[in-house]
Amino acid sequence: MSEHSNKLLSIVVPAFNESAGIQAAIRTLAEVAGALPYRFEIVVVDDGSRDETFKRAAEMADAGFPVRAVRLSRNFGKEAGLLAGLQHAKGDAAITIDADLQHPPSLIPDMVKAWEQGATIVHGVKRDRGDEPWLSTARAYVVNKLITTMGGINVQNSSDYKLLDRAAVDIISKMLPERSRFYRGLASWIGFKQVTLEFDVAERQSGASGWTLHSLIALSLTAMVTFTSAPLRIVSVLGVLTFLLGAGVGTEALLSWFRGDAVSGFTTIIITLMLIGSFIMISLGIIGEYIAKIYDEIKHRPTYVIDQVYERNT
Ligand code: UDP
Ligand code: MG
Repeated sequence: MSEHSNKLLSIVVPAFNESAGIQAAIRTLAEVAGALPYRFEIVVVDDGSRDETFKRAAEMADAGFPVRAVRLSRNFGKEAGLLAGLQHAKGDAAITIDADLQHPPSLIPDMVKAWEQGATIVHGVKRDRGDEPWLSTARAYVVNKLITTMGGINVQNSSDYKLLDRAAVDIISKMLPERSRFYRGLASWIGFKQVTLEFDVAERQSGASGWTLHSLIALSLTAMVTFTSAPLRIVSVLGVLTFLLGAGVGTEALLSWFRGDAVSGFTTIIITLMLIGSFIMISLGIIGEYIAKIYDEIKHRPTYVIDQVYERNT
């Protein structure tokens, strides 16, 4: 083994209400990273936790671990946490990993090896999703499938466990000004040399998942709306369907009028009305999602607000 290289690895850990496990996570990450021939730093982003996550991370810095703890002013969501972490990472490469260690740190040496061999981005890809509730699996499958087939970038089985070379960190954290973010999609969108490594999702080490049904649906919508405009085409398809339906029912109505028995057809009218009404409302909903995203973008609000940054200068 050569002596320690002067390169720096940043490990970015978004953490929301993780005080039960954050110190153990930092210890494990330091152990794994310490065995590599690089200097390293651990950037913990406390995403507005209501527990002691930030304090626990700062204690680790005081205890001599190379920790930079970044506290957001409130809970901005994991996407914002990842961005804040990448923007506060100084490394020649950055690894994004979950605080609950469901992303096995034992994969880090392999990720680093792929980076040494020239990969700009190393994607951790889920081989086995672990004991996830079936609803999450189904949601992830549908959303990822839609983005992969309609958005033209492969996010099937993808995760936020990734290694990014400095070039990719800079592009993601400085050159993509969009407010509504989907990290997995962006990382794959920027191109360069990308490598995938499979891993098995581990059990959550402690604490509970911070996602709510609402935040999951919001992320899925953001992912779809920001990566494909194909749903807008659904509106056109619904329009064509309505037209065909209209032509059919209209011809039928005309024929019966000529036959002189044009009175019946109440059921047809009700069904047609309901169908057209729902098509219109679905279409408005789809268009509305895009308009909402446009509105979010033009407000130009920052993706997150920093409360404080804590580190020990060594
Ligand atoms: N997380 C975050 N902000 C949030 C929700 C989650 O920073 O609003 C972090 C969380 O602390 C963890 C990672 O994102 O490090 C993954 O979250 P979690 O384990 O709750 O999700 P799951 O494993 O179910 O995807
Ligand atoms: Mg988790």
